[in-house]
Amino acid sequence: MNQSAVFWMVFAAIVIGWILGRFSGPKAPSRGRSSSYYEGLNYLLDGKPDGATDAFIASLDVNSETFETHLLLGNLLRKRGEVQRAIRVHVNILEHSAIQDIQKHEAHLELARDYISAGLLDRAEQLLLDLIAESSLKGVEARRYLIEIYQAERDWDKAIAMAGSLLSKRGLFQGKRHEVKGPGEQSVHVLLPHFYCELAEKRKKNGDISGAQQALASAFREDPSNVRVTLMRAQLAEGEGDFRKAIELLLNVAGQDKEFLPEVVPLFKQCAEALGQLDQYERFLRDSMQKYPSTGLVIALTDLINEREGAEAAALFLTDAMRNAASLRGLYRLMLLQLEESRSQLSSKLEVAMELMRQLTETAPGYRCQHCGFRGKHLHWFCPGCKFWGSIKPIGLIKKLN
Ligand SMILES: [Zn+2]
Repeated sequence: MNQSAVFWMVFAAIVIGWILGRFSGPKAPSRGRSSSYYEGLNYLLDGKPDGATDAFIASLDVNSETFETHLLLGNLLRKRGEVQRAIRVHVNILEHSAIQDIQKHEAHLELARDYISAGLLDRAEQLLLDLIAESSLKGVEARRYLIEIYQAERDWDKAIAMAGSLLSKRGLFQGKRHEVKGPGEQSVHVLLPHFYCELAEKRKKNGDISGAQQALASAFREDPSNVRVTLMRAQLAEGEGDFRKAIELLLNVAGQDKEFLPEVVPLFKQCAEALGQLDQYERFLRDSMQKYPSTGLVIALTDLINEREGAEAAALFLTDAMRNAASLRGLYRLMLLQLEESRSQLSSKLEVAMELMRQLTETAPGYRCQHCGFRGKHLHWFCPGCKFWGSIKPIGLIKKLN
């Protein structure tokens, strides 16, 4: 059913509710109420539903029987983007004492959602914190919305605390590692390490290296298999000049999630160069190619062969690799190698074609979200499409069918 059909059904419900209230209720509605009801009907007949909304808010008493209708109307208004009206409807519910506590808490939560939609995050935060104190039943849902708010505000300390308090609720389930969903239905176990990583990034940027290390240690305790945590720990080790430890950490990525192997390459190379161990780097690249063939790895290996054995050997390797699985970036690199070899004999036309190729490869997406399909040029740990954490990965090679 589409949204406007639902909207009109709610109106119908309000009209019926009002009529029933008027003719069967013990007390007849006041004159003022009655006239606003007719005003609402006129708006409806004139095709001006907004005026009708206002008139009906005023005409229908809030009590336990009409509660659902009011709540539904407010939620629909929010979905239609009429947030100010939604807030009016939900506040109106809360101002009436003739409803049960559980209904009040429900309206309380919906009002907080209105404020989130309106971008009034401070107010939403206060409402949700109050709700947690008031109601254990709505506490879990309120915590999820709070995590959403802290995520949007990039307040990672608060996000971590709130995610942690969601997990502590899990203790009630016989101490088993019970799945707890955060915002967007993603498990809190997935979110929490990313929050710690964000905190570590922030601390690193402020020069607080030991603080960053502490945050990463917490992230590791939460999820020892998280690739981002491993990459960041390796970056910090490299920054401290501990290249051996960095390489040791990076070697874990293949076991954690082989699809992230291309992300390991630049740092691994840097550390191997610092240690004068390019052989180890080459072994790592060839092993990785077996585990997860991808353009990034092919090009890294081509570059290494170019450095160690020259352009001809590199072009040979790359041609062979492209025979199995062609890619735009691979093709570009191949042309570049050939250009390098015979620059003097080439016309400027080919150089122009090369420049076009370069621009093409630079705009080609190298990353894809496994959850919603979002494609991008850079690795985002938080998907802008579906708001999932850690769902974007480097794109692998697509093998030719024949
Ligand atoms: Zn996504």
